[in-house]
Amino acid sequence: MDRDTLLAELRLLERAARPLEPGASRRKKLHGAANASAERFLRGIGTRKAFMETEDMGIGLLDAPIGEKGLPLDEVIAHFEHDVVRPGAGTATGGHLAYIPGGGLYHSALGDFLAAVTNKYAGFFFTGAGPARMENMLVRWTANLVGLPATAGGALTSGGSIANLAAIAAARDARGLKGADYSQAVVYLTHQAHHCIAKALKIAGMAEAPMRYVGMDARWRMRPDALAEAMAADRAAGLTPWLIVAAAGTTDTGAIDPLDAIADIAARERCWLHVDAAYGGYFLLTGHGKAAMRGIERADSVVLDPHKTLFLPYGCGMVIARDAATLAATHTYTGHYMQDALRAAGEVSPADLSPELSRHFRAVRMWLPLVLLGLKPFRAALEEKLLLARYFRMEVERLGFEVGPEPDLSVVTYRWAPAGLSLAQTNALNQSLVEGMQRDGRVFISSTMLDGRYTIRMAAVTHRTHRKTIDLAVKVLREHIEALG
Ligand SMILES: *Cc1c(COP(=O)(O)O)cnc(C)c1O
Repeated sequence: MDRDTLLAELRLLERAARPLEPGASRRKKLHGAANASAERFLRGIGTRKAFMETEDMGIGLLDAPIGEKGLPLDEVIAHFEHDVVRPGAGTATGGHLAYIPGGGLYHSALGDFLAAVTNKYAGFFFTGAGPARMENMLVRWTANLVGLPATAGGALTSGGSIANLAAIAAARDARGLKGADYSQAVVYLTHQAHHCIAKALKIAGMAEAPMRYVGMDARWRMRPDALAEAMAADRAAGLTPWLIVAAAGTTDTGAIDPLDAIADIAARERCWLHVDAAYGGYFLLTGHGKAAMRGIERADSVVLDPHKTLFLPYGCGMVIARDAATLAATHTYTGHYMQDALRAAGEVSPADLSPELSRHFRAVRMWLPLVLLGLKPFRAALEEKLLLARYFRMEVERLGFEVGPEPDLSVVTYRWAPAGLSLAQTNALNQSLVEGMQRDGRVFISSTMLDGRYTIRMAAVTHRTHRKTIDLAVKVLREHIEALG
């Protein structure tokens, strides 16, 4: 190709690629359409269903295939609203009381917008000093909230699962465990631990590590005496207690393990104490949460999920290690010799403390709402959730439900248990109740199995769940109970 042909070809290609960089007026149009869709969504959110059963389950999306030519903006937005936003759980609604709900702060959406437009690099301090400082500042603020010392450090992750993986990998390396040791390195947890712990152990290559499911008390909390006994038995058998995974707010019942007593045992046995506070962690902003999680400050590593109890949109977890160097030892790919230099520099790079390299600049979605609003509304919303759970428990008990214990945090368990029915019949009755509630969709609740009993849950987590939502949930439950006869 001669020079002139080459230049002519370049001109053609540059013109053909021009749609990738819309001008100011096109940007205004795109932004206007996206904003109009967001406004339609938010203005209707008060009456939007918390669960939408649809026949099509969004199959219409496939009518807009990716081709050589683009589709009209209105058509694309229409597909997004009809086929993506409408079906399934209304995870941004206040009526989403199933699993551990998220939220979706509007300020975070704007943070994501700015993060994406500027596309700042959040992996390394050198290229992204601002993003790294912002992330470290958020980790530092959270570490202080947990009560960890100045040596603590960590990173934002996509969620609790990856955060737990990062911590478990660090715990493995901190104890110098190699493949031949795995079948001797014992993990202590309860049957209420989130499944991502077992998954993380497997991904970390440690599927052979023996798992000890420690006995629980009547409120689904790890029993320290049972933990100590299990460890003594393992030591006697020549095994090495390696890792305790305690929960600060289990997914099923919101139970908080007795962290202080567990930390005593961890210290005595020189065992790594990991606290999975993915759901419960940010309740530390409340007086009740702080008291209930006493001992969390003694953990070797902690996981929190800002996309749960800080109401952020999905895609934001956090891992913190008591000694940031332990996370760095596992995740710094340039080699251990960087460790001291990194710490001496004062600002560590997020990529050196977590599995990802190029990554979403997710700090800004957490920073923007916190820095704009201050902590006061967050504390209020969390205190409100704690009280709403207690209020809900009172109300369903008045309806005649058998209720679980006073919640440690904001999850309530209950079931419909009329006298004279067998366990199987009671389970089936509650299952049909939950299925009926899901078809109804005004609120979205989920269930679990506790000791073979089909149990219904209510988790008050999102910032949009208020007294009115709880009253609606109770009303819908009453209607469905009456319909059951
Ligand atoms: C949600 C949750 C997880 C998993 O976190 P993801 O953000 O969904 O990956 C882990 N542990 C607990 C206790 C949780 O509630």
